[in-house]
Amino acid sequence: MPNQKVSYFYDGDVGNFHYGPGHPMKPHRIALTHCLVLHYGLYKSMQIYRPYRASAHDMCRFHSDDYIDFLMRVSPQNVQNFTKQLGMFNVGDDCPVFDGLFDFCSMYTGASLEGAIKLNNQHCDIAINWSGGLHHAKKFEASGFCYVNDIVIAILELLKYHPRVLYIDIDIHHGDGVQEAFYLTDRVMTVSFHKYGNYFFPGTGDMYELGAESGRYYSMNVPLKEGIDDATYMSIFKPVIHQVMDFYKPTCVVLQCGADSLGSDRLGCFNLSIKGHGECVKVVKEYGLPMLVLGGGGYTKKNVARCWCYETAVLLDEQISNEIPYNEYLEYFAPDFTLHPDISTKQENCNTKQYLDSLKQTVHDNLKQIAHSPSVQMQDIPPDLLQLENTEEQDPDIHNHQDELDKRIEPANEYYDGDKDNDKENDGYLDV
Ligand SMILES: [Zn+2]
Repeated sequence: MPNQKVSYFYDGDVGNFHYGPGHPMKPHRIALTHCLVLHYGLYKSMQIYRPYRASAHDMCRFHSDDYIDFLMRVSPQNVQNFTKQLGMFNVGDDCPVFDGLFDFCSMYTGASLEGAIKLNNQHCDIAINWSGGLHHAKKFEASGFCYVNDIVIAILELLKYHPRVLYIDIDIHHGDGVQEAFYLTDRVMTVSFHKYGNYFFPGTGDMYELGAESGRYYSMNVPLKEGIDDATYMSIFKPVIHQVMDFYKPTCVVLQCGADSLGSDRLGCFNLSIKGHGECVKVVKEYGLPMLVLGGGGYTKKNVARCWCYETAVLLDEQISNEIPYNEYLEYFAPDFTLHPDISTKQENCNTKQYLDSLKQTVHDNLKQIAHSPSVQMQDIPPDLLQLENTEEQDPDIHNHQDELDKRIEPANEYYDGDKDNDKENDGYLDV
């Protein structure tokens, strides 16, 4: 699929945030990735943007007002005044309060949102935001190092123009926050490949989580066991994606490229190589659909940077040398200074052929339940969340459109304001 125009979003400040000493999530991996992208000369073949920063209002398209208000106000200096909220919003150990927390969320979320808007306006065919992909964040709470769910917010923007959005998640962890948000709708199909079992975080994502109501059969889970290698992963990824494309016929794709599914990850237990991980990106790209490509997990920093730089090259259809070019972080890539070192581990591959065959059969049976290309009644297209375009050309009737948008994506708020704790399990779903 040649000549796809690629836009890349990077904020030079995003690598300077710290979750705290010893925390495995290191935003610096984004700076490291960007450094490789620049030194490999990949900037020449794509447009690089310093992205918009998402406002609290943008975040409240999905999240509750009081959760976002808390994220805006809390800081390491005043955290002792928020003891009740810390518990309520699951902020503390995994998701600590750190300096600039809201700005960090604003940067990675703004980049995904702007990517979605650029895709909607056909300013590019592929939008890349390696700082995004924080798939665990929920409507009312932080989870698994994620605070604001940039993916859900970007998908809501894509839904203004796209009748069917396919979300694919190759992080080692289940994409629970995105699945939950769109669990009741057929307008977004979520497909997550992840490690499942033995209490592996977040504990959801077995193959019987299918979606509910209008969304039944539009959540797909491919629960895998530890030690999966390139060949085994591809033997299930490729046919599943092929069938999903065939049955669902999405009009655009959001791909979460969590790099904790690589071998030797600090938290992961899969055994993919950088080429194997990149092959998933290649497979999805070949369908030629508009694509929002996001980061996610990834806790062995040097390999995350290698992986996302390589995947940037894959998206640009460029071949890049295995020898890492001179750059200010070169010592991170010692001793081999290569893009594709052997990162495989001795972990046994616990995914037998029988197990994978039964998974494939279940996936196929579930997909058969989906009518080909569900018809979605397209409503009037509401204005973009951000007005990046010429404001003179705006529809004079914009307020009516905005009201309609508000009705469509925030309907639960009026019913649940005031007693959020009672129905916490059930009201993280979006009505789209
Ligand atoms: Zn992960």
